[in-house]
Amino acid sequence: MQSIEIRRQPAWIRFFLNITLAIVIFTFGVFFTLLLWNSSLIKNQIKTQAVAHIRQIVKTREWNAHYGGVYVEKKEGMESNPYLDNPDMEAKDGKIYTLKNPALMTREISRLFEKDGTVTFHMTSLKPINPENTPDKFEENALRLFEKGEKEADAMQTTGDATSYRYMVPLYVKEECLQCHAKQGYRPGDIRGGISVTFDITNVARSLKFNNTVILSLGLISAAALLGFMYCFTMGLMKKLDKAQERIKEMAVTDDLTGLYNRRFLYSQLRDEMERAKRLNLNLSCVLLDIDLFKQINDSHGHPAGDLVLKRISGVVKSCCREIDMVFRYGGEEIFVLLIGTDLAGAYKLADKIREKVERLKCIYENDTAIYTTVSLGVAGFTPEDLHKITQPDQVIKHADSAMYRAKEKGRNRVEIAESVVM
Ligand code: GH3
Ligand code: MG
Ligand code: MG
Repeated sequence: MQSIEIRRQPAWIRFFLNITLAIVIFTFGVFFTLLLWNSSLIKNQIKTQAVAHIRQIVKTREWNAHYGGVYVEKKEGMESNPYLDNPDMEAKDGKIYTLKNPALMTREISRLFEKDGTVTFHMTSLKPINPENTPDKFEENALRLFEKGEKEADAMQTTGDATSYRYMVPLYVKEECLQCHAKQGYRPGDIRGGISVTFDITNVARSLKFNNTVILSLGLISAAALLGFMYCFTMGLMKKLDKAQERIKEMAVTDDLTGLYNRRFLYSQLRDEMERAKRLNLNLSCVLLDIDLFKQINDSHGHPAGDLVLKRISGVVKSCCREIDMVFRYGGEEIFVLLIGTDLAGAYKLADKIREKVERLKCIYENDTAIYTTVSLGVAGFTPEDLHKITQPDQVIKHADSAMYRAKEKGRNRVEIAESVVM
């Protein structure tokens, strides 16, 4: 039997591409969000640490400024603050005390931290009195932003293998600051400068990078796994649908009782095969078979017995045909065989073989009734030249049909050949 070609629906390709796109967008959306979330969580933790450091130093400075600076006993080797007009004072007992104002105190605390190699504080201003307080690039940018109203600035800086975090807040002029800074023209509320804190976050930055790599890899693996699963699922579904479609197409062209092709399919197929035979210069022959006195079988043994005989004869016809020959149930108990590339002599031989086989066929109905029958067959053969003169499939069938009727007239159980093919 000729296989029926099923074309894969482009809709399935579109479906698979859409699913792929959805999976890629979804997976990367989820993992990119995780990536941002992880980064912002770690950055917030670092910032919280920086804010705590700054708050501590700012409060210490406020305490110092509140008392107008703090005097400490000036010991051997201790220098006085060169930026104050009268930093030293002699007590009644003759001891010298020197003034530690907030700026000097901040510098000295910062140096203590620097010795540990942990945190660095830096007081800075766009108009520094002390050249040590000149801002670096980050601080200068931050100070300009503070003048525009920003309340904080931060950045991560990488130098070689080391990464540090920098955080800075503005310092506002308070009443008590004017003791030292009035000559710079500041008024209370002005931004006098800022204080920055810098500390090493190399290990945290490494962890952040590692976490991001893990999240990204997981994203890629998940997307690949999901795509693989969807691919297998879609392919499985496609195979099932192809099979179902094939089955539906087969059912549309097949006769339920005999399993032969049906009459509707005969007409479309015959038209195509006539065209093909003309194009390829092939002979085309056909055989029309009608069961003899079939009505009597129905009447004597019942309709189901008739069905059984019909099925058995269909089987005989198919067993006599080649793979490329096509067998159709043409009518109630009529079978049409289309032979491509076969001449009239070949068709006759086949028809007689079928006739003989049916004559010897014993159909056992309900285990005890043996039914014998015969068939009458009409054969018609067409050369490519004949086919150029015949245009309609009906004409081919008509020739075989009139030959078959002649077989009936001549006493049944015989094969007759169509006399004149082209009228
Ligand atoms: P003839 O030799 O002249 O062909 O005699 P016949 O009895 O075969 O001719 P007729 O056309 O009068 O009868 C055909 C019968 O086939 C009539 C109909 O009831 C029966 N038939 C048609 N289709 C089926 C079917 O699917 N199953 C069964 N059991 N009988 C069917
Ligand atoms: Mg009949
Ligand atoms: Mg009939």
